[in-house]
Amino acid sequence: MLTRPLIDPFQRRVSYLRVSVTDRCDLRCVYCMSEDMTFLPKKDVLSLEELDRICSAFVRRGVRKLRLTGGEPLVRRNIMWLINQLGRHLKTGDLDELTLTTNGTQLAKYAGDLVDAGVKRINVSLDTLDAQKFKSITRWGDLDKVMDGLDAAKDAGLRVKLNAVALKGVNEDELADMLAWCGDKGFDMTVIEVMPMGDLGNEDRVDQYLPLTLVRSQLAQRFTLTDIDYNSGGPARYVRVEETGQKLGFITPLTHNFCESCNRVRLTCTGMLYMCLGQDDDKDLRKVLRESDSDEVLDEALDEAIARKPKGHDFVISRRQSGPAVQRHMSTTGG
Ligand code: SAM
Ligand code: SF4
Repeated sequence: MLTRPLIDPFQRRVSYLRVSVTDRCDLRCVYCMSEDMTFLPKKDVLSLEELDRICSAFVRRGVRKLRLTGGEPLVRRNIMWLINQLGRHLKTGDLDELTLTTNGTQLAKYAGDLVDAGVKRINVSLDTLDAQKFKSITRWGDLDKVMDGLDAAKDAGLRVKLNAVALKGVNEDELADMLAWCGDKGFDMTVIEVMPMGDLGNEDRVDQYLPLTLVRSQLAQRFTLTDIDYNSGGPARYVRVEETGQKLGFITPLTHNFCESCNRVRLTCTGMLYMCLGQDDDKDLRKVLRESDSDEVLDEALDEAIARKPKGHDFVISRRQSGPAVQRHMSTTGG
C-alpha cells in the first residue's frame, strides 16, 4: 500500500507522527502552561474526521507509529471515536503502534476502551508521588485520580511508562524513590529535561532547569544503570535498572542534541504541521484539507513540508537567554 515514503533532505525517513488532538487540559502544570491560558476557538480546531484524514495520509506514506497527545488527549470529546478509527490501521498491518501520552486523570474511565482499540502501551506523565507537591506542580490536580488511572491501566493490561520532568528543587530528591516505585509497579520510567517552550507567566525556566547528567549521577548512587540499545522509536536513550529490571529513559534535548536520528513530525490540533519541535517553521494542513478533498493534493502538501524539515533545534536555557526558544507551548505541539 505504501506509495512513496517521506524522506527529508538529511535522508531521515519520517515514520512517527505525534498529534496534539486538543490544546485543552484539565491541569495547568507550571512548566507547561500559565494559569490563565487562553484556549483556541473550537472552529479553528480540526474535527475528529479531519484528524483521521491527516493521520491516515501519513500512514499511507509510511508512518508506522502514531502518538496522540495534547493538551490532554482524553479530555477531547468523543476521542474514542478517533482512537477506534485509527485502530483500523493496526488491523491491516499498516501501523505498528498507536499510543498516547496522558496525564492519567481520565484513565480509570478509558483504560479498557483503549485496549479494545488496539493500544498496547501508554505514557503517563507524573512528576511526583506526593499529593501536596502534585497539587502545586499541576496547580490543582488530585493525585488519587491519577493513581486510580494507573491501576486501571495496569489491570487492563496496558504497558505503562511514567514520564517525569526533572524540576530543580521540586522533585530532584524524589526521582530515586519514583524509580523504585516504578520498579514495584512494573512501569518503565523516563526523565525529561525542561524545554524552553511558551511563556509561563511568573515561572522562570532557569529556576526549573535541572540537567539530566546530574540526575543520572544521583540515581547511579542508588541503582546500577546499564546502557542498553533499546529504542522506543522516540528520542529517549535508555538504561536498564539492574535492581528492578525496568528501563529508565533520559530525554535530554538540552544537554545532548537528539536531532541526528529524528524520525518525527508533529501535528497540532489546528492542523499545523511542525517539522521540528524546536523550530517555528510549519505547514498549514487544515487549509489544504478544507480547500480540497483530494488525497493527491494532501500528499503534495506532505512532500512540500517534509522537504523543509530542518536539521535540528537550537534550545538553550541560560541566564542570558531564559525566554522561550519558540513561543508556542508544549501543549500546542504535544510532548
Ligand atoms: N497532557 C498530557 C501529559 O501531560 O502527558 C500530554 C501532553 S504534555 C504537553 C506531554 C509531555 O510534555 C508531558 O510529559 C509533560 O510533562 C511534558 N512537558 C510539558 N511541558 C514541558 C516542557 N516545557 N519541557 C519538558 N517537558 C514538558
Ligand atoms: Fe496538561 Fe500535560 Fe501540560 Fe500538564 S503537561 S498542563 S497535564 S498538557
